[in-house]
Amino acid sequence: MRSGFIAIIGRPNVGKSTFLNSIVGEKIAAVSPKPQTTRNRLLGVRNSGEGEGGQLVFIDTPGIHKPHTKMHKKMVDIAFAALQGIDLILLMVDAASEFGAGDRFVLEAIKKAGLPVVLAINKVDLVRKGRILPLIELYHREFPFAAIVPISAMLGDGVDDLERELVEALPEGKPIFAEDVITDQPERSLAAEIVREKVFIHTHEEVPYSSAVFIDAWEEFEDLNRIDIAATILVDRASQKGIVIGRGGQMLKRIGTEARKELEQILNVKIYLELWVKVKEGWRENDGILRDLGIE
Ligand code: GDP
Ligand code: MG
Repeated sequence: MRSGFIAIIGRPNVGKSTFLNSIVGEKIAAVSPKPQTTRNRLLGVRNSGEGEGGQLVFIDTPGIHKPHTKMHKKMVDIAFAALQGIDLILLMVDAASEFGAGDRFVLEAIKKAGLPVVLAINKVDLVRKGRILPLIELYHREFPFAAIVPISAMLGDGVDDLERELVEALPEGKPIFAEDVITDQPERSLAAEIVREKVFIHTHEEVPYSSAVFIDAWEEFEDLNRIDIAATILVDRASQKGIVIGRGGQMLKRIGTEARKELEQILNVKIYLELWVKVKEGWRENDGILRDLGIE
């Protein structure tokens, strides 16, 4: 059995979402992996095959997709930091677009990461066969990829091969998520992730690493095109609760407003978001809470 976290990396429009939809569909873990210490977003979980199977946990690493020439070095550092805790990189490129500065940026980031990398050359349905081999050779010269797999995420061609190569490149280990925490309600998990992300962005020092977000209630009003959500931000100490709430409640308001706006945009509904902050000393050592979070 193999399992691990896979960072899916690639420029916008190369087909990452199309691939993820075909391999994991709507199923994602109900909860965040590990202590939610990074801004990385959980994209989906795939339980692969019987026997020699594995569990593939796909993670988004936001820093890596957007090269920014002026801040080039800094961006590579950010990208690098985003890869902490990752077991494998899936680099996706578009067979139909020319190799450019953005591809160069991503390559530099993965060279620094010191992780195994599987390369998927997507959209092979758009190009002549004769174009694929030179691309494979180009990438082969750049980096010792664990595997290079031409695919068409849209048509499903090569996707099984890619899955097999990903499993093979993961370390041996038990599944990270139990079957029963994998859900077809990804919106709830997304809401928790987004609140968590805002806490991460706006607080400092140990707070981001000491907090977790639970969705307590979720009520959909289809006729009003509205979802009411209640969520709890769990922290480790009373002092952290003070930081998350902020002077006069300003910080919590900011976290709530930003999370609500982002969720409204993604889900395309009106959101009422109620946030609570609770202190649970030593929650990271508490088996029950960790189990609820899907860590144990
Ligand atoms: P992302 O930005 O990397 O997540 O890319 P998307 O998955 O959103 O795909 C961007 C566009 O490329 C969409 O219009 C997809 O339909 C298209 N696309 C994705 N995979 C393929 C493929 O294998 N072949 C073709 N022809 N189009 C694809
Ligand atoms: Mg996408």
